[in-house]
Amino acid sequence: MKREGQQWYACFSVECQPKPLPALGNAIGIDVGLESFAALSNGKYIPNPRWYRAAEAKLRRAQRKVARRKKGSHRRRKAVALLQKVHARIWRLRNEFQHIESFKLIRDFGILVIEQLNVKGLAGGMLSKAVQDVGWASFFSKMAYKAESAGRTLIKVNPAGTSQTCLCGRSVRKLLSDRVHVCMECGLVAPRDIVSAQVILQRARIGPSNRNVGEVMPCVV
Ligand SMILES: [Zn+2]
Repeated sequence: MKREGQQWYACFSVECQPKPLPALGNAIGIDVGLESFAALSNGKYIPNPRWYRAAEAKLRRAQRKVARRKKGSHRRRKAVALLQKVHARIWRLRNEFQHIESFKLIRDFGILVIEQLNVKGLAGGMLSKAVQDVGWASFFSKMAYKAESAGRTLIKVNPAGTSQTCLCGRSVRKLLSDRVHVCMECGLVAPRDIVSAQVILQRARIGPSNRNVGEVMPCVV
């Protein structure tokens, strides 16, 4: 039993038998991002859920309320209780969203390629990015156990420079504000996050054991 905010929870651990899905030979690269929840190497996006922006704004308001009130006061305790409630609601919504989206990916693809996240890098200056990474880590762990249960292959690749490289191997420097990838070498012009997802997919095939797995799908612009 545990208590979070005003709520009590009963937690269970359950051992499940694996439930293999019919085998699939296709592969997908997945790039988690800020603008959309994820970009896929087949040119599609998983958009952020509709409740996301409103919930973030509500969270910021609740945080400011706590900060404004005097420490130890009754009014501050009330504000903290509200903040916990907002946090708990976002956690539930996000968790549900992650379960649904990870399930769909596992159902539709035989081989799934993601980036190795650096969740320990919290000490650096990019705090908000690191906090995001924690959210993605929980998404990836859902993918990992669902993949194992379904008999799918999940591959984690080196994340270094996936947003700054072209499929042809040439380095294509981009600022965070540059949304389109333009390669002078091979002429590829495509949305940046889609190219990143394709680079992630490509990296999984560098090792000899992963060669000839799937195809890089044409990008829909
Ligand atoms: Zn290129």
